[in-house]
This record gives sequence, structure tokens and C-alpha cells, in this order.
Amino acid sequence: MIKTDLKSLTLEQLQEEIEGLGEPKFRAKQIFDWIHVKRADSFEQMTNLPASFRQKLSENYTLTQLKTERKLVSRLDGTVKYLYRLPDGEYVETVLMKYQHGNSICVSSQVGCKMGCAFCASTKAGFVRNLSAGEILDQVYQTERDLNIKISHVVMMGIGEPLDNFQNVVTFLRLINSPFGANISLRNISLSTCGLVDQIDELSKLKLGITLSVSLHAGDDRTRDKMMPVNRKYPIAELLAACKRYTDETNRRISFEYALIKGENDSMEDAHRLAHLLRGQLCHVNLIPVNEVKETHFQKSGREHIYRFQKELIKQGINATIRRTLGADISAACGQLRRERNS
Ligand code: SAH
Repeated sequence: MIKTDLKSLTLEQLQEEIEGLGEPKFRAKQIFDWIHVKRADSFEQMTNLPASFRQKLSENYTLTQLKTERKLVSRLDGTVKYLYRLPDGEYVETVLMKYQHGNSICVSSQVGCKMGCAFCASTKAGFVRNLSAGEILDQVYQTERDLNIKISHVVMMGIGEPLDNFQNVVTFLRLINSPFGANISLRNISLSTCGLVDQIDELSKLKLGITLSVSLHAGDDRTRDKMMPVNRKYPIAELLAACKRYTDETNRRISFEYALIKGENDSMEDAHRLAHLLRGQLCHVNLIPVNEVKETHFQKSGREHIYRFQKELIKQGINATIRRTLGADISAACGQLRRERNS
């Protein structure tokens, strides 16, 4: 029998579950507090519950817990990268970055990825499975515990395509935002997608107020088709229309990610095309020197070149910044630690 993980349930779901056991509803709130505030590892620790009830809980339920397999700390800027082992022996990566404005964590949402982007390490060995809400959440909890810190910002930019694991990701967002739990503001959460149009529309309807990052990486379908297979299903015009609907619904500007790859998408003509495409869209462009991944032949554009690309966008009225590289000495581009472990 697979036991239900109580860490993956919202308070409302937990209340239903507990009432189903014939226990009073307030017990659910107590358990929720033990899991999400006191961060208990076992039902045994929940000492304000009757012993017989604790016994019943451990017989029928689990509390998902990730274990640290590897931990790398950057000597340059203190960025910490974890390789976490999931209960079934799979691995995901999590990164903690320290900024002036607080501690920001980058979490994974899937083991592997189906999307097949040509430049990305996370997708090279294909897709294994979705993470549960509790497994996404426990990346935050384990990291806070290990470093004895409070995390204020979350980015869903680790391994996996979060909108391809829609339900669990939304449950995770509700859990991390719960006033009875970690209580992280949805304004401090960004979700990055390769551009699943139907799911962007679903997300718009939920009006969660998170920041949507869209991995664009090209301003024309021919180039984007080559780099990102998802573009063949949802071409740029459809994607941008969904982005427009998202900003109309939520009033939140979109952050477009653009990884600059030498000779592929970094000409001044590319910059013009991009500016033209985004004109009138409430947005911001994040330029990233592509991380060079072992299995691909892509090279990053030169620093000067990236500045020129940025200047061109700004000249055309598009807000653009260059992403600072953190943890350059440990990160080896996202997805690579897990690849090493599995090979
Ligand atoms: N699946 C989601 C989130 C995970 S990837 C998405 O596609 O957005 C997080 C970001 O890293 C995305 O913008 C992705 O395109 C980018 N990325 C992946 N591989 C990269 C690489 N080698 N160099 C730079 N950025 C990369």
C-alpha cells in the first residue's frame, strides 16, 4: 500500500482526511502546524496528539523527506547547491542564493524533463516523474534547516517544466504561501516555463500573483523551433498572446528569459526582431550568457557582445538586464549534478 504523504496536502485537504478518520477537525490544524511550522520529521514528535492517534497516523501516512546526497558551497559568493535524494532514490537539484533582499531558493519540479530544449542539461536523459507537492516543498524546508536561515524568495527554475506538473505545483504554491505554514508571499515567487500556452491560461485564471518567467530565447519561429521543440506545438505568436492574457488578468509584468548563444540567436538583427516582437507587452527581458553544457556544442556570447545586445533592446524601448552569474565555481549549469550521479 502506498501511504498518503501528509506534507503534500493543503490544510483543507488535511482537514478532510482527518475527519475521514473520525477525528475532530482541529487535529488537522495541529498536524499542519507540526509539519509546516515546527517542521517535525515524524508523527512521534507531535506530542500534543494522543499517542494512539500518532500511532494510527504513522501506520497510514508518511511525511516526505529529502536527504542531502551532495552539497557544494561557492567560495565566490556563498551560493549553495544541493543534490537531494528523494524517497524512491531519484535525485533533484536545489540552489540557494543569498541576495541583499533576502535568501532565494531555486527548486526543481520534476525528475528530468520532457521538453527537450537543445541547450539544457536537465532534459538530456529524458523524463522520469513528477515531484509531489511535498517533495517540492521539502527542498525549501531541508535547505532552511541545513543553513539555519529563513527563505524569502522562491524561483521555480530548477529541473523540470513546472507547468507540466500543474496540479502539484499549484498545491506547492498554496502550501508555501499558507499563513499557517512558511507564509512566503506569492509576490516573491517566480515560475519559469518554456511556454505551455494552455497551462499559462490555466495559471492566469487562478490569479495567484506570482511572477511568470517565459523562456523565449529566440525572436523567430525558425530559430526557436530548432532550440525548443515546444515551439512546434505553441509557436511564438500563440505564446505571446497567452502572455498578453496573463498580464491583462494579473497586471503582473512578464519576465522573458533569453540565453545568448554565439552565432545562434545573438545578432543585432535578433535584437531588433525581439524588440519588435515585445513592443507593447508589459515585460522585462533577462539576458543570460548561455551556460555551456557538456553534451551540447553551444558557446556563450562574449561579454561585450551581450552589452551591445542589451543596449539595442533598451534603445528600442525594451527593459533589459543581464543576469548576474552566481555560484559559477559550483553550479556547472543546472541539471548537471544529477546527470553526473546517474551516469
Ligand atoms: N522548464 C522551465 C524551467 C526550468 S529551466 C523553463 O523552461 O523555463 C530554467 C531556465 O534556465 C529557463 O529559462 C531555461 O531555458 C534556462 N536554461 C536551461 N539551460 C540553460 C543553459 N544551458 N544556459 C542558460 N540557461 C539555460
